[in-house]
Amino acid sequence: MQLMVLLISVSIMAADPPYVRVEWPLDLALELSRSYKFSAVEVDETGSLIVAGDESLLALFDDLGVPYSVDMDRYWRERAERERMKAVPSSYFDPSTLTSWLQNLVASHPTITELIQIGTSVQGRAIWAVKVTDNPGLEENEPELRLIGNIHGDEKSSLMVCTDALEWIVTQYGMAPEATTLVEQTEMWFVPMVNPDGNNSSTRRNAHNYDLNRNFRGPEGHDPFSGGPSPFSEPETQAIRDLTEVMGNRFALGLSFHSGAACFNSVWNYSVTAPADLANFFSSRTGGTPCGNFGGDCAIPSANGLAEAYGQGCSYPGFWHVVGADWYVTYGDTNDWAYDEWGTLDTTLECTDSKTPSAAQIPTYTVQHRMGVINYLLKARQVIEGIVTDAGTGNPLDAEIVVTQFPQVIYTDPLLGDYHRFVVPGTYSITASAVGYLSETVTDVVVVADSPTVVDFQLLPDSITFESLRSYWPNSGPIDINANNRIDVIELVQFL
Ligand SMILES: [Zn+2]
Repeated sequence: MQLMVLLISVSIMAADPPYVRVEWPLDLALELSRSYKFSAVEVDETGSLIVAGDESLLALFDDLGVPYSVDMDRYWRERAERERMKAVPSSYFDPSTLTSWLQNLVASHPTITELIQIGTSVQGRAIWAVKVTDNPGLEENEPELRLIGNIHGDEKSSLMVCTDALEWIVTQYGMAPEATTLVEQTEMWFVPMVNPDGNNSSTRRNAHNYDLNRNFRGPEGHDPFSGGPSPFSEPETQAIRDLTEVMGNRFALGLSFHSGAACFNSVWNYSVTAPADLANFFSSRTGGTPCGNFGGDCAIPSANGLAEAYGQGCSYPGFWHVVGADWYVTYGDTNDWAYDEWGTLDTTLECTDSKTPSAAQIPTYTVQHRMGVINYLLKARQVIEGIVTDAGTGNPLDAEIVVTQFPQVIYTDPLLGDYHRFVVPGTYSITASAVGYLSETVTDVVVVADSPTVVDFQLLPDSITFESLRSYWPNSGPIDINANNRIDVIELVQFL
C-alpha cells in the first residue's frame, strides 16, 4: 500500500498520554510511523503498534482514515504488570526493607503521597502510614479510606497485598483511570505493617504476646484472654485508633488484610444476631458458594455491594464471602470497633490459604487480589455525601449522619463538615443532627451504581440570641428594615 507523505511535520511528545493503539496490521502501522516520523512506544501482545499520542496525531489518523483505539485500560494494566514484575521484591518485606521501600516510593511521588510515622511498636519499631491523595497537605471534601496489613505478624501475604495495591495506585496515577480516580477523589491511608515486632519474629502476636486484632474496643469490649489487659492497651492498636480519634480521619471504607484463608468477611465478628449493614455486603448470609474451609453456608454478595466489588476483581482460586461471625466469633477486632464507633464499613480480607506462601508466589497472589482491592476502594464513589454546615454562619459542623435503612451512625469530618456514606443502589432517608442544632431529614434520596448523590445540610440552631437572628434569616427574608430592624412576629413564626 502506498502512503501519501504529508508535508507538514507532526510533532509528538514522547511522554504525553494518551497512548494510542494503531488498529492496523503491524507492517502497515510501522510504515505509517516511518512516513510521518512518529515514535512507537512498543508493540503490544496483540501485535499492535502503541504510540504516544496527542491531538495532532489523532487528527492525522482521522484525516488518513487510520483506525485507532484510545480505550487503553487493558493496555495499562498489562503494562503495569510487566513493570511490576521487574521490580517485584525477591522476598517478603521485613520492618527494615519495608521502611526503605516506603521512603523510596514516597520520595518518587512527592505530590501525591506523604509518609507519616503514626506510632512505635513495643520494641521500638516505627509504624508507618502512607497517605495517598492529590494535595496531600490539604483537607478536602473526599471520602477517607483505610487499608491495614500484617496486624498478625506471621500473616505476611497480607502485607504484600497491601503494598502491591499501594504501589499500583501510586505508580499508575495519571495513566490507569482507576488509579487516577482514587488519587483525585479519595484520601487513602495505607498502614501495611501494623505489627512490625510480630513480623520480625514471625509471630501472630505483638511483643507483649497479645493478639492485636483482639485488642480493639468492640461493642462488647475486647478479648480479655488473648487481647491484652484492656482495649487499646497496645501501642500498635493505639496508632490505628488515633488515625481517627487524634488525626480526625472519618473513614468511609476500610480493608484489614489477613491471611490463612481466602475470603471476604463483613461485620459483625462478635455477634450473629446484632443488626449490621447486611444489604451493603450481601443479599443473603447463606447459600453462597464456594465456601472454602467454612463448614456452613457462606454468603451471597448483593448487586453493586462491597463484597461483589471485591469478588469480581479477585481471581484468587476459591475465594469466598461470609459474615464474620457466621464463620467464627471474635471480640475486639478492627472491623467491629471501626463499624461500631465510627460507622466505617471495614472488612477483613483474608488473602491466601497459607499465611505466608513461598516468595515465588508473591507476584501471583498480589495480582489476583489487586483489582479486588481497587474495585472495593472505588465504591467510595457510590455514596450519599455532602457537607453539613451552620445555616447562619456557614461553618462546618461536627454532625452525626444516619441513613434510616442502616443501623450505624457516621460522623462528618469536623474540619470541612463533609460526610460520605456508602450504600447499595436504592432510595433512602438520611438525617443529620448536631449538638445545639435542629435535626433535618431528607427523604427519597436516590442512589445509583457507582456515582455519588449529594445531600448537603444547613442546620438551624435549636436556640439563638435575638442579636444573631439576622444571620439565620433568609437573604430575601422579611426583616423589616423600614421599621428600625424590627421583625414581624407572624413572619418569624412562619420562618421557624
Ligand atoms: Zn489474621
